[in-house]
Amino acid sequence: MVEPRSAAALGKEFPYTQKTLCYIEIAADGAVSHGADSGTYERARSGESRLFAVWPGEWASHLFVIDDLDEYARAHGLVHDQERTGLADHEHTTRWELDPSEKKPMGSYITIRVHLDCGCSIRDLDAFAKQIRDQQGWDIATSGGWGGSSTAGTYMRARRKSLTS
Ligand SMILES: [Zn+2]
Repeated sequence: MVEPRSAAALGKEFPYTQKTLCYIEIAADGAVSHGADSGTYERARSGESRLFAVWPGEWASHLFVIDDLDEYARAHGLVHDQERTGLADHEHTTRWELDPSEKKPMGSYITIRVHLDCGCSIRDLDAFAKQIRDQQGWDIATSGGWGGSSTAGTYMRARRKSLTS
């Protein structure tokens, strides 16, 4: 018998949100389920279940025990993580402009450049999209390309009509 490896030992190197990761939850009564849902974190934290994950590799796959639930929660955006996302948990001061590459500025989705005058930087588009939807109603396409720098701003796709000035 080989014990599962420790996800905690890998810290932020463990790919908590990698799509090919297979989460396995074992309830206290022995029931096994797979996939993580919105209740997984609470059940694992309360001891109702234990959480494992298979991390598939090219030649072999490895079983890990998810033994750092705080890191799991930060990775999944269940608790806000300023270090990982680059985003403070506050109302951002935003400016946006049409990206110079945008050829169809009247399209339903346009590429914009976002500047955060509050000093935040966007390292996690999903986290930014969630915050800015709540704060300003912007609809950011998280499946689109994005990137940029703190000086030139961050480019991303957004639904034009959702944008406030
Ligand atoms: Zn900010």
